[in-house]
Order: sequence, then structure tokens, then C-alpha cells
Amino acid sequence: ASATQALAHNLNASERTHFVLVPMMAQGHTIPMTDMAYLLAKHGAQVSFITTPLNASRITGFIDHAVAKGLAIQFVKLRFPAVEFGLPEGCENVDMIKSRDLFKNFMDACAALREPLVAYLSQQRQSPSCIISDMMHWWTGDIAREFGIPRLTFNGFCGFAYLARYIIVRDNLLEQVEDENELISFPGFPTLLELAKAKCPGSLSVPGLDQIRKNMNEEEMRSSGVIINSFQELEALYIDSFEQITGKKVWTVGPMCLCNQDSNTMAARGNKASMDEAQCLQWLDSMNPGSVIFVSFGSLACTAPQQLVELGLGLESSNKPFIWVIKAGDKFPEVEEWLADGFEERVKDRGLIIRGWAPQVMILWHKSIGGFMTHGGWNSTLEAICAGVPMITWPHFAEQFVNERLVVDVLKTGVEVGVKAVTQWGYEQKEATVTRDAVETAVSKLMDEGGAEEMRMRAKEFGVKARKALEEGGSSYISINLLIHEMGNPGKCI
Ligand code: UDP
Repeated sequence: ASATQALAHNLNASERTHFVLVPMMAQGHTIPMTDMAYLLAKHGAQVSFITTPLNASRITGFIDHAVAKGLAIQFVKLRFPAVEFGLPEGCENVDMIKSRDLFKNFMDACAALREPLVAYLSQQRQSPSCIISDMMHWWTGDIAREFGIPRLTFNGFCGFAYLARYIIVRDNLLEQVEDENELISFPGFPTLLELAKAKCPGSLSVPGLDQIRKNMNEEEMRSSGVIINSFQELEALYIDSFEQITGKKVWTVGPMCLCNQDSNTMAARGNKASMDEAQCLQWLDSMNPGSVIFVSFGSLACTAPQQLVELGLGLESSNKPFIWVIKAGDKFPEVEEWLADGFEERVKDRGLIIRGWAPQVMILWHKSIGGFMTHGGWNSTLEAICAGVPMITWPHFAEQFVNERLVVDVLKTGVEVGVKAVTQWGYEQKEATVTRDAVETAVSKLMDEGGAEEMRMRAKEFGVKARKALEEGGSSYISINLLIHEMGNPGKCI
């Protein structure tokens, strides 16, 4: 065991820095927070992980693992007041919200967790050392002040997108532009960045959310620092620039997905996989190394049915083996019908379709995977970077268009499929704007022999650097230890 782990086991509870982690209940936010809990505990801290019954049931694989390993993580299940706030019983995750009109209700229900959380923390023998909460949980700022402890924010963005978002908010960039297609530039951004208004984070208008956004931004400015799930060797220019411009202390502690490479936990990351993992591995084993394109758009993206059909036809004409994760089945029966009406039969020798939750990290890590067509959520992007897999970017909304610029222009480990229109969360989209030809072209650019050699090499190099960052003595490893030290009682922590 490493020196840190050995020391961690020798600390008793009162000596450990105690972090309270309050994740947003959305997969892209909760999953990295479970990794954070694991990392902090492995480095000798104590963690209270705040969750709700339904969300806890999704991460039972992780909970069992933490218990088996004897990690100092307490899972605190607070009752989520869904019904009181006009949500259906059991609606405890953003991916269960049926209409964007209910998003404010969901946010209000989250804020109502304040009292039970205070009650829980008050019952503990010692006050915690620090709250790390999602940026969206603005109401945790008050709790930190009540207990006289720091609050650090986390929102799952990379440094590049964090900086872009900060400049948008600081300069009110979106309000100055009427036309959704007008290009916005980012004063003070260290490299050239221009994006249409509609493609900027924060451009989604959600009923009743203005005040909540204001609270979030104000509380973020009052926070004692920011945790970023990235690593210095990937994007130091933007992380340092964010630190300088905001004057906030930044801890870069990623890629957190590398924290735990136990195959069972990896396969059940975020939720129980909807397909048998052994079967999935068997399929992957039967393919040539680097030959398969993996297609998945995260947990929230709602791709239009027509668009899914075009995507499928593009994959078909690419003639490459693929794994395609589709979550539309329950929402769009027409897609299910189309799949059954010949498509699945035609591609059965080289196409694997996963309906529902896929064991994404397990798949990305497999040697048969040669490319990842992704919506560009930061977790997915970082997972691909760790696996050394180049990408085809297909952004839908939020900061995904910003991430696309990082991957394509800066890291140069991906090609874009060429998305023109935004597919906003919670809006019905009817049309396909990316054609099957565009899909085929992007796949062949990335996967054809000799086509993307340089990109592939760069992706592999970043994968190596990513692993080094979290190894003993690596930049993120050191940053985690410093975080624990600074937030704990000086002299008692690692
Ligand atoms: N994920 C997964 N299986 C799925 C869909 C998503 O394991 O079928 C995981 C993925 O590995 C990532 C997270 O869910 O860790 C999604 O986060 P991301 O930031 O990529 O996108 P979001 O879902 O927030 O749009």
C-alpha cells in the first residue's frame, strides 16, 4: 500500500478531515462526486456523502465496495420532498423530470434538504471540516456559514468550460445579444474562443430559474474555492487563468474516474448496467483491437427520433463495428419500431445495441474500442481521455459545445460531426440536422486506417498523463493531499 493509504488506516475518526459531499442528483454530477468520496477517503479523510433513497439505490455497487474496503464514507440518505414540491413520488433525479417546467420544482425540493442536512450535521459529535457541494446547491453556502466552515463548489466542468462560463456570467454576455446565432467572444480567454449564443452554457431558458441562477452565482462567488475534475497536464493554461481571473483557490483533483479500477464497481458505475456485462465483454473480445466505435450520449441528452434514425443509418453505411447506447426506447416507440424493422437484423454481425444504462467506462477501457462518438459531457470526455480513445463530438446542450472546442481545437484528439443546432434539455426536437453522410464521414475520418494516426497518438499520450496525475506524487494526487491538509486541522492530517 502507498504511504498515504497506510497513514489513512492509522488515523482515527477525530483526527480525520471530515468532508460533507452534497452532489446534484444528476448522473453527470453524482458519479464524479462518488469518485471524489472514494479518493478523499483513500487519502485519509472522512466523508459524509449526502444522498436520497432513490439515488442511493442506484449506487449500491459503490456503497458495497466502500463498505467492503472499510473506507470512512458515511452514506446519509435524506428523504427527498418530491410530492411537497409538485413532483411525482420518487422523482429524485434530474433524469426523471418529465418536463423542463418542473425543473424549478426540483431545485426547490433540493433546497428544502437544508433543514434535514443541518439536523444531521448538528447530531455529529464534531463539526465537519468542509462542505463540498454542487454549484447548483447554492443553499449549502448558508449551512457552511452556520457551522463556520468553508464551502467549496464543484460543478463537473473542466477548467476550459469553467473559465468560459465565468466570463459569460461576469460580463453578462448572453444578455447583450438578441440573436441566438450571433457569435459571442470571450474577453480575457487565453486562446481564441467564439460560440453562437445558443451554444453557450447558461443559454437555456427554464421557467422560474432566474432567481435560482442568481443565488447560485452569488454563492459561488462567496465560496472558499473550486474543485475541478481535470488535471494540470491537460489544460493548465485554462485552470491557471480561471484561478487568476476569479481569485479563487482551485484544486485540480482529476481524472477522478481513475480512482477505482475494480472491474465490478467500474461496470456498475452510476447505475446497474441494463445488459449483462459478461456478454458485453464477450462481444468486445470478439472484435479486432481498435476497430469498434462506441456511441453514447450520456444520461440526459434527448436526441430527436429522426436524428437517431439518421445516426443509425450513418453507422450502418460506415461498415464499422459499433456499440450504440440508446435511451430513447421508452420515450420514442417509433425508434424502437425502426430498430426492429430490419436495422438490427442488417447490422447484427457488427452492431451491439444497448438499451438503457451502459457500463461505459468498462467499454471505453476495452482494447477493441477505437473511437467514441460522444455528446461531450465532461465526464464522458474525460473518461475517453483516460482510456486514450479519440472522439467524434456531437454536442447537444449545456457546456458540451465548449468542451467540443477543447477537444477539437486545443487537445486535437477529436473530430466534430458538425452539429449546427442545439438540442436543449427538456425541449422536443423533431428534425434531424446531422445527416447520415456526416456521420459516415466523421466515422471514417476517425476510424479508417491511417486517417487519424496523429490524433490517436495524442489521445494515448493524454491517457498516460492522466494516469500519472493520480499516481503517488502526481499533480492531482498532491492536490488532493493539500486539500485535505488545508481543510483539516493543521498538523493532524496528511
Ligand atoms: N454513463 C454510463 N452509462 C450510460 C450513460 C452514462 O455509465 O449509459 C456515465 C458516463 O460514463 C459518465 C456519466 O454517466 O460518467 C455521464 O456524464 P457526462 O458528463 O458525460 O454527461 P451527462 O449525462 O451529464 O450529460
